Amino acid sequence: MTFSILDITSNGINLKLVMHEFKLTQNLLDLALKRANAKQIRRVNLLIGPFSDDREESIRFYWKDLAKGSLGEGAKLHFEHTPVEMKCLDCTGTFYLDDETSMCRFCDSERVQSLSGEDVRLESIEVE
Ligand SMILES: [Zn+2]
Repeated sequence: MTFSILDITSNGINLKLVMHEFKLTQNLLDLALKRANAKQIRRVNLLIGPFSDDREESIRFYWKDLAKGSLGEGAKLHFEHTPVEMKCLDCTGTFYLDDETSMCRFCDSERVQSLSGEDVRLESIEVE
């Protein structure tokens, strides 16, 4: 399960993200429960892009709610940050985003898209 939001510069993206958080957390929980094979989940390891602190908070928040009464209740959520891969729309070069600039490394274009930055992925779980 991956959520790709390609155009990180488009307006309304934040609203879109918020609406997705709940569903995203539900999907992550479902996936974790499936993998847990009826065992109590102790820890969930998730991969998330950088600059996603707010999203971490919402996922934790929704998880608490959604996992109540299930084997996912009380599981520790661990977030691992992954680099965001960007693609230039002008020269099609790909590179990793850093704090300094979001322009293309190769041609200085500002027309770049995120290939992976908004994804949250379930990497692994630990069960009792
Ligand atoms: Zn370029």
